[in-house]
Amino acid sequence: MSVRILIVDDLSFMRTAIREIVEASGFQVAGEAENGAQGVELYRSRQPDVVLMDITMPVMDGIESLRRIIDADPAARVVMCSALGQQEYIVRAIQYGAKDFVVKPFRPERIVSAVRKAAKVHG
Ligand SMILES: [Mg+2]
Repeated sequence: MSVRILIVDDLSFMRTAIREIVEASGFQVAGEAENGAQGVELYRSRQPDVVLMDITMPVMDGIESLRRIIDADPAARVVMCSALGQQEYIVRAIQYGAKDFVVKPFRPERIVSAVRKAAKVHG
């Protein structure tokens, strides 16, 4: 069965870029959220296999959204995707239970391998 992914990013072009990468790799997009609060809500209603989570967003940032998602579902698989210069968040994100941390700008293969690893899909 196809891995279902929730994309959380405030930039529409970034969500589109990620969508194209994951769909081209045979994964399915379970939903798109433009801030962390929407991410928490869509995680609950869509139950994706993997979340690709931006950090800097209005309303609720990705670190808080990660914290709430893991709080509600300790088995949640969240991969943080954030711009260069935000590595300070890596430690906190990993402490909160993030599975991986992809630095933007990223190569498509990096997103795909992070999703595969998080979802434990091989090949
Ligand atoms: Mg952002």
